[in-house]
Amino acid sequence: MKKNTRHLGIGARIWGGFVVVLALMVALGAIGLRYVAEANQRLKDITQTNNVKIELAMEMHSALRERAISMHTLPSLVDAFEKDDEIQRFNAEATRYTKARTRLESMPLSPQEREILAKIFKMTREAGSAVQLVVDRSIFIDDPADVFEWIRHVAMPRQSAIAEQVNLLLDLQRNQTAAAVRDAENSFSRVRNLMLGLGTAALLTGIMIAGFVGQRVTRQARQLETQAMYDQLTGLPNRSLLHDRLQHEIGLSKREHASFGVVLMDLDRFKEVNDTLGHGVGDEVLREVGHRLKEAIRAEDTVARLGGDEYVLLIHKLEPEDAALIANKIFAALDKPFHWQNQSIDLGASLGLSFYPSQCDDASSLLRCADIAMYVAKRSGQGYALYSPDQEHTSRDDLSLKSELREAIQSDQLSLYYQPQIDHLSRRVSGLEALVRWNHPSRGLLAPDQFIPLAEDAGLIAPLTHWVLKTALAQLVALQKKGYALTMAVNLSARNLHDMELPASILALLAESGVAPQDLILEITESAVMTNPSNGLTILTELDRMGVTLAIDDFGTGYSSLAYLKRLPVDELKIDKSFVTDMEENDNDAVIVRSTIDLAHNLGLKVTAEGVETQGAWDLLEILGCDNSQGYFMGKPMPAEKLEAWLQASAWSGVWTNARTAR
Ligand code: C2E
Ligand code: CA
Ligand code: CA
Repeated sequence: MKKNTRHLGIGARIWGGFVVVLALMVALGAIGLRYVAEANQRLKDITQTNNVKIELAMEMHSALRERAISMHTLPSLVDAFEKDDEIQRFNAEATRYTKARTRLESMPLSPQEREILAKIFKMTREAGSAVQLVVDRSIFIDDPADVFEWIRHVAMPRQSAIAEQVNLLLDLQRNQTAAAVRDAENSFSRVRNLMLGLGTAALLTGIMIAGFVGQRVTRQARQLETQAMYDQLTGLPNRSLLHDRLQHEIGLSKREHASFGVVLMDLDRFKEVNDTLGHGVGDEVLREVGHRLKEAIRAEDTVARLGGDEYVLLIHKLEPEDAALIANKIFAALDKPFHWQNQSIDLGASLGLSFYPSQCDDASSLLRCADIAMYVAKRSGQGYALYSPDQEHTSRDDLSLKSELREAIQSDQLSLYYQPQIDHLSRRVSGLEALVRWNHPSRGLLAPDQFIPLAEDAGLIAPLTHWVLKTALAQLVALQKKGYALTMAVNLSARNLHDMELPASILALLAESGVAPQDLILEITESAVMTNPSNGLTILTELDRMGVTLAIDDFGTGYSSLAYLKRLPVDELKIDKSFVTDMEENDNDAVIVRSTIDLAHNLGLKVTAEGVETQGAWDLLEILGCDNSQGYFMGKPMPAEKLEAWLQASAWSGVWTNARTAR
């Protein structure tokens, strides 16, 4: 919206610029034209009057010449009639001269013209009597030689002087016309130059505006292209550019009869990073991941970001046999911890691979197949998986699951499995952990990893936890009533620690069931506490005050500091099964288990080991001084109906008093 108004503003300014240039050109053009018209008119006026004046002066000139001829003719004429005719012609010329001169004097005159005309007037008057004498003497004196003498010496010089003045006048008038023409020419050239300059200025302005507009448009187009084709956060190609590249790669592979691979990668603990350390750190991590992936592959391969914590790698000429190679390369790139302030963040990833042309043959299905394989990898926890058609049903139909989950909680589709926890001192079962399952009408029994994240997303964690607590406590009371002295561990999710009502609702459930608070163990992962440190601490303190036992679950997998853990009111640590399961083969894991047990004891905490699958692990834990153990070796999670049989028959089972309570 804001961008739009800005674009409108620029458009308006450009149009404004054009209008200003146009108006300027029109105004200056009009001024120029008026200037030319005025000059034209002036020239016309001047030349017209000057032409008339020149004509009159010529008339004077010719009258003078004719009179001179008459003057020379007269004395030699003998015949009285001829003489009379000539005299009449002579006088007529005088009249023609006077008329012309008088008309000339009445016209608009320049000072020089006026001066010359005044001179001519004076000279004419002076010459008048001398010339008249020629006529008179031609009539009365018979000696023509005398008259000629008079003409040559008196009359003609005067006459010539006048003619000279008339010539001067003519020259002056011609000069005036020439000056007017020159003037007009100057005006025209001035106007021409003005118009030329104006045209150039308008052209330059136009070019400048066009250049500006052009630049703007290309920049905007480029910006739009980057926005449309690249991910803003990481600068990597986005989904649409990836599609183009896939299409291109398909064409290339067809020509070269080669195979290529598509790897869809999803980070494993990214949501935790975002929730715990904030979006700023999350963004940093995403950028860094993009950077590392780019480093890990060749230049002709592509890394794109689909959004969230999902990346796609397009690997040129990759065969399914080499999947492990590329997967390990990617894992190696992410192996180095990400550092943020003093924390180091460990990120795992799940990869799904699909191949062209052996598995999928168009861009969309390549991505879809890689996506399905990625989900399989994520669920199995195996790191990476190659697509195969039998994975189809395990795909992301999470959306429908999510909508079914609410219904499932209400309509008793959930059930609890219980896994025994064995006390090392007595080697007898001391408690149970309740593990939820979803008996889905069409999909069968679903493990918690398949729907707990959905419950978190869908905001269903509170009702789910409520159901689990209520069911587990009822089960515990039933067992305790039968004489089994047991505790009951229930898992809380990170989201539960946002719910300030939780302590009150647990208190109510305890009261309702009649379970002693210390027989309820609540398991929280360390990262769950870190997600919401202040509320989390408040809730845990409240629960501790109520007398409930608190345990940190999956210890060792998160990145919380021990110093922080020390401040939590917890009673127990549960060492994550990943360390315990491998402890016999992996010295590193053994060291972690040993030091965790020591550390927990130093902090006054009890330790439970999970994932005990062998006698060897059990023995080793006993040597290390572990308090409790849990695992397939002693007992798998089992449904309620099998639990009692196990409690009766198992070697780990206690010598149960038949008393109503063993507490
Ligand atoms: P967890 O709390 O770490 O639970 C232990 C998981 O390890 C269980 O998986 C259990 O079946 C498995 N396990 C037990 N012994 C062994 C062993 O010897 N070897 C191996 N490899 N695995 C063993 P399950 O039941 O699939 O639960 C998975 C996770 O789901 C649990 O991890 C817990 O975090 C969560 N979860 C289970 N029930 C609930 C619940 O009611 N509420 C919440 N919020 N989370 C739950
Ligand atoms: Ca647990
Ligand atoms: Ca655990």
